[in-house]
Amino acid sequence: MKRLVSVQRKGERTYRELMLSIVNGLGLKVYFRQARKVLIKPNLVTSKSSAEGVTVDLELIKSLVELLNEESKAEIVVGEAALVNTEDVFKDLGVYGLEAAGCRVENLEKGEWVEVRPPYSLLFEKLLVPRRAFESDLIIDMSKMKTHELTGVSLGLKNFFGLLSQGGRRYAHMNGVNKGIVDIYSYFEKEKKVISIIDGLIALSGRSGPIIGKPIEMDCVVASTNAVLADAAAARIMGADPAAIGHIRLASEVMGIDLSEAASDYGAPEADFDLPLLPDERPFRINLWVHHKFHKYPVQKDSSLCTSCTRCESICPKGIVTIENGNFDYKRDECVHCLCCVEACNTGAITSRMKNEYLFRALKRGWKTIKAYKDQ
Ligand code: SF4
Ligand code: SF4
Repeated sequence: MKRLVSVQRKGERTYRELMLSIVNGLGLKVYFRQARKVLIKPNLVTSKSSAEGVTVDLELIKSLVELLNEESKAEIVVGEAALVNTEDVFKDLGVYGLEAAGCRVENLEKGEWVEVRPPYSLLFEKLLVPRRAFESDLIIDMSKMKTHELTGVSLGLKNFFGLLSQGGRRYAHMNGVNKGIVDIYSYFEKEKKVISIIDGLIALSGRSGPIIGKPIEMDCVVASTNAVLADAAAARIMGADPAAIGHIRLASEVMGIDLSEAASDYGAPEADFDLPLLPDERPFRINLWVHHKFHKYPVQKDSSLCTSCTRCESICPKGIVTIENGNFDYKRDECVHCLCCVEACNTGAITSRMKNEYLFRALKRGWKTIKAYKDQ
C-alpha cells in the first residue's frame, strides 16, 4: 500500500532524485498519466528567494515539470497570483526560466476568473477562482514550510488561499481566514485531483512569517495526495500540534480527515522553529483587546526599514493606510486587524507583535506549571 504522506530528506541527492522518490513513494505517475491539464501552484508570494525561506525552490518545480513531461502529454502551467505585483515577482525570481523545462508560466491575476460554489460554504457561498485552475484536472500545490503570524503556519492548505481572488482574500482576512482556507481547498479537493508538496529544504522560522523570519535548513520535502495530511505531518516536523492550528483542525473536522494518519514516524528532521503564539489561544484574544485599547495594532517596528514601497497601502481592504516619509500610519478606529498590511511588508518595518505578548507567554507558562503541579 502506498504511504499517505511522504517525507523525504534531500541530503546529497539531486533535485530530480528527490522528486522521483516522492513521485514513486506516493504512486503519482498514475496521476500524471491521467491528467490533461495540470496547474502547478507554487507559493511565490513575493520577490524573496527560496534561500530566504520565503518562496518555493524553483529547482524543485523544474524537476517536477520534467518528470510530468516524461510521463504525460498534459498541458502544464505554473501559475501564481502574488500578494502584490505578480509580474515583478516572476521577473525578480526568474520564474519565466522554468518554461525551458516544458511548461508555461502564467500570471493568474491577468486571466479570467470563474464563479464556483464551495462544498461546505463555511465563509463563502460563492468563490471566484482562476479559469486556469477551474479548467485543470490536476492541481499541484507547492508550498513553503513557513510560520505565519496570523494562522500559525503557512503550508499546503494556506497556499490554496492564493487561488482566491484578491477581493476574496481580503474578505477572508477580515471575516475568518481559517474558514476561507477550508472553503477554497475543499472546492478543489472535491472537484479535482490534488497533490500537495511542501518545500522544507530551507524553511522559515519566527513569529512574523510568512515573509519576515529566519531561514532554517530543514532539508526535507513533505508530500501527500491530501493537503490536510501533508500539513499535519509538516506541522509536526515544525514542532506544532496540527490540531492546535485553526485551519488544519477545521479542515480535518469538516472534511472528516483523521490527523493521526499523518503520523510523524518518517525520520523527520529535528525541529528548531520559533512558532508564533497561535491566534486560537485564548490569551491572544485578551491580548488583542488590551492592545487595541491602549496601543496601536499593527505597529510600526522600525521606520528606518520602510522603503515607502506602498505595498501595505495598496493591499489594505479598508483603504486606511498612509505612508509619509517612511512613516506607516492608519486610522485605528477603522482597522479590522486583518494584518494584510503586515503580510505584504517585505522589510519587517511593520509588525503585529504585541507589546505585551511576552507577558502573556510568561503567564501562560506559569499557569501550565501550576496546573501540572496540581495534577500530580
Ligand atoms: S491597517 Fe492593516 S490590519 Fe488594519 S485593516 Fe488595513 S490592512 Fe488590515
Ligand atoms: S511599511 Fe513595509 S509595506 Fe509599507 S511602505 Fe513601508 S516597507 Fe512598504
